[in-house]
Amino acid sequence: MSSSSASASVDCTVVGASFAGLACATVLARRGLRVRVVERKQDPGDKLHTTGIIVKEVVDQIALLDRLPTDLVRQIPGIRLYAPNMRYVDLDAPGYYFLATDTPRVIRWLAAQAADAGVELVFGASFTGAARIRHGYRLEGLGETRYMIGADGPNSQVAKSLALGRNQKFLCGAEYEFAGLELTVGDRLHCFVDRKIAPGYIGWIVPGVGVTQIGLARRMPPEPEPEAMKRVMDKFLAKIRGVAAVCDCEPLAVRAGMIPCGGVVRPVAAERALLVGDAAGMVSPVTAGGIHTALKHGLAAGHAVAEFLEGKCEDPAGWFPASYPKFRVKRFLRFLFDHFQSDLLFNLTLSSRPMRMAASQIYFHRRGVLNPPPASRVIRQQVAESASEPRGSSPRSAEEESPPLQK
Ligand SMILES: Cc1cc2nc3c(=O)[nH]c(=O)nc-3n(C[C@H](O)[C@H](O)[C@H](O)COP(=O)(O)OP(=O)(O)OC[C@H]3O[C@@H](n4cnc5c(N)ncnc54)[C@H](O)[C@@H]3O)c2cc1C
Repeated sequence: MSSSSASASVDCTVVGASFAGLACATVLARRGLRVRVVERKQDPGDKLHTTGIIVKEVVDQIALLDRLPTDLVRQIPGIRLYAPNMRYVDLDAPGYYFLATDTPRVIRWLAAQAADAGVELVFGASFTGAARIRHGYRLEGLGETRYMIGADGPNSQVAKSLALGRNQKFLCGAEYEFAGLELTVGDRLHCFVDRKIAPGYIGWIVPGVGVTQIGLARRMPPEPEPEAMKRVMDKFLAKIRGVAAVCDCEPLAVRAGMIPCGGVVRPVAAERALLVGDAAGMVSPVTAGGIHTALKHGLAAGHAVAEFLEGKCEDPAGWFPASYPKFRVKRFLRFLFDHFQSDLLFNLTLSSRPMRMAASQIYFHRRGVLNPPPASRVIRQQVAESASEPRGSSPRSAEEESPPLQK
C-alpha cells in the first residue's frame, strides 16, 4: 500500500478509506478500472469513531464480507433493553444476531481486500479541494481523476469543496473500551434508555471481541464544553454499575464522533462526483447505524460509476442517488423521539406488548415482531431489577466465537 501522495491520473478517486470508500473502490478495481483511495490517516484502522456493530443483513447481503476472518467478530444473539428505572426486557428474533467486531482489524482487512483488487491506497494524504476539468477533476496535490467519490465521513470535505449538501443534524457519540470487565449477562447487547443521560438516543454495553465497549450517543448543544461528554459518561457508568462494574478501571481506548441523523443530504451528487456513506448522510435516523448502508451503497456506487466509465450509461450523478434510502418513517420516528421522549412513559410501558413490538421492529427489522417465535426462543419478558441479578459473566461459547449493534 502506498503511503505517498500520488499524482498520476486515474479513473476514479475515492476520498476516505472506511466502509463506504473501501467497498466502492474494491468494486471499481475488480472491474479493471484505475482507482485511488485517499485517506488522511496513516493507518485506516487508527482512531475509529464507531462501535462497529454489524447487523445480520450485512452478513447475508454483502458478499465482500464472506471471507471476513471469524476471529474479528463475535456473535451477539439478542438485546437486553433497559428502561430509565433499570427494569429490562430481553428481545430476541429467531435466527437474528448482531456481530460485534474488532473494527480496526476489519477496516485493515477491507483495505487489504482493496489492495489485492488493485486499488492504489494513499495513506496520510488529505483531500483539500478539487477543480473541475473537462473530463473530471484536478485534485490539489493528488492528480487528476475522471470521477470522484466522497466517502469521507460526516464532515465531508468533498461535499464542501463541490458545494454539495452537508450534514446539519447530528447525535454526539462517545465510547470507552475496557478489558476484563464482568457483565451480568455476557451474550446480549445491553441498551439503556434514559432521557437525562442520552436524550435522543441510548447508552449501550457491547460484549465485544476481547473487550467490553461502553458508550452512549445523545443530542448535544452545537458547541459543547470539552468536558461535557466525559461528565455524561461518568454519570452513565455510575448508573450501570450493577450491569458492568467499571469501578476504577482505566479504559483501553476512548473514542467519540458525530453521527448524522438528518437523512440524506441534498444535493448528494454533482457532475462526475457522488457522496456515499456518512458523507451522504445515509445513517438510520432511528438506530444511528450506518455501516450497513455505507457498505451496501458504496458497493452499488462502485458498479454505477464503473458502468459510466465503461461508456455503458449516463453519469450516475443524475440517476444513482434515487436508490439512496429516504428514511421517511425513520425521520418521523426521530422527530417523535426528539420531541416526546419520556422516561416515565418508558418506565411504565417497557414490558407492554406494544413497546416490545416497537423495540423489536427497530432492532430486528420486522423479524419476530408479528410471527410467534419458536418455543426455544420466545421473547422473554424479564421484569426485574437488574441490580438484583447475580453477577458473573457467561463464558464465551464456541458458537459465540463464530460470526455482528445496530443501535
Ligand atoms: C460513537 C459511534 C458509534 C457508532 N456505532 C455504530 C455501530 O455500532 N453500527 C453501525 O452500523 N454504525 C455505527 N456508527 C455509524 C458508523 O460508524 C458510520 O455510519 C460509518 O462508519 C460510516 O462509514 P463511512 O465509510 O461512510 O465513513 P467513516 O467511517 O466516517 O470514514 C470516513 C473516512 O474518511 C477519512 N477522511 C475524512 N476526511 C478526509 C479528507 N479530507 N481526506 C482524506 N480522508 C478523509 C477519515 O479519516 C475516515 O477514514 C457509529 C458512529 C459513532 C460516532
